[in-house]
Amino acid sequence: MESLLSEILSGPRQRRLSRAASIVYGKRKVLIGGDAPVVVQSMTNTDTADVIATAIQIKDLARAGSELVRITVNNSEAAAAVPAIREQLDKMEVDVPLVGDFHYNGHTLLQDFPECAQALSKYRINPGNVGQGAKRESQFAQMIELACRYDKPVRIGVNWGSLDQTLLARIMDENARRSVPWTAQSVMYEALITSAIENAQRAEELGLAGDKIILSCKVSGVQDLIAVYRELSTRCEYPLHLGLTEAGMGSKGIVASTAALSVLLQEGIGDTIRISLTPEPGGDRCREVIVGQEILQTMGLRKFTPMVIACPGCGRTTSTVFQELADDIQTFLREQMPAWKKQYPGVESMNVAVMGCIVNGPGESKHANIGISLPGTGESPAAPVFIDGVKAMTLRGDRIAEEFQAIVLNYVAKRYAPTVVE
Ligand code: SF4
Repeated sequence: MESLLSEILSGPRQRRLSRAASIVYGKRKVLIGGDAPVVVQSMTNTDTADVIATAIQIKDLARAGSELVRITVNNSEAAAAVPAIREQLDKMEVDVPLVGDFHYNGHTLLQDFPECAQALSKYRINPGNVGQGAKRESQFAQMIELACRYDKPVRIGVNWGSLDQTLLARIMDENARRSVPWTAQSVMYEALITSAIENAQRAEELGLAGDKIILSCKVSGVQDLIAVYRELSTRCEYPLHLGLTEAGMGSKGIVASTAALSVLLQEGIGDTIRISLTPEPGGDRCREVIVGQEILQTMGLRKFTPMVIACPGCGRTTSTVFQELADDIQTFLREQMPAWKKQYPGVESMNVAVMGCIVNGPGESKHANIGISLPGTGESPAAPVFIDGVKAMTLRGDRIAEEFQAIVLNYVAKRYAPTVVE
């Protein structure tokens, strides 16, 4: 009998077709949309008026891999600081493009601080926060005209915490006239999407090119975000910025962002992402960049840094040796990446396995480029190391971590050194 088995397919759906927007600073050009890879971006939480603190945080975010960094431009002091921040970054040879986040007074700040308008590579405009009543239209138009004058792309970033109330009232009125009115939730979704699209169309009427517009509709609920972006993606060709707003702190923020973004990215929706984590006191702002990269890399959409595969440990591993080794190796690999990216092309695809005992250790190690299987409780104190699927050596004693790191370094230098063509 003929087999009924068919090929099992996997992978994300083809990316939704969108225009591509270029965000430029000097020779650095970041493409959002089109067939460009999904871009990871972040936002500072320093006082923008504090030039040094902000420049240092931007440098750290860029070094962690943030391809764009957004800074709030909320008052005259902040606007005056922007060119000085750019200058500090130039001195540190950090060419990451900067995005200015404007609310309420953006039209005035961009007008009064031309060097700020010029130093930024992109403006974020929240159409719900550009002014009320008659002023709304003129202040929005003023910001778009300034974007045209300085030739800057714009993200029209709608947020349901600051939705344009006039537009919401209009959509509610339209809903009331329906024979079967929509639910309040659907009305809210519609208002978010309409706000983004109508403001983008208005920006185009005012002269901003269609390929200079990026849209976002941020909400804080996972199912809401998925519903809104699924619909938004069918109604326009603008590139889309994805992010769950106010995702939260710690594991909750990471899980909620990952859940929402993974569903959309798997469906081919989303051209740039930002993970809005609330940092824990004393926490590292760069975490949002690492989480964004890890979402994309674990989904197989991009590669940023070698990944460590580690088992969770169990009663067979009563010591913390293997947890420390897994953590040390991941940190070590990440820290090497800024230099390795230039020296060793392709190294970001490397997998390293750190396993706690012989149950799954050797098997998992064989699938990785390099793997180590540490001795579990009661096992002989030996750690077999596998390189490209073959057992290469066994480490023993107190210096297993250092010796394993040296083996990884050696492997990278041999395997990923660029081939010299004579
Ligand atoms: S590999 Fe060993 S230590 Fe790790 S979870 Fe499996 S059984 Fe436990």
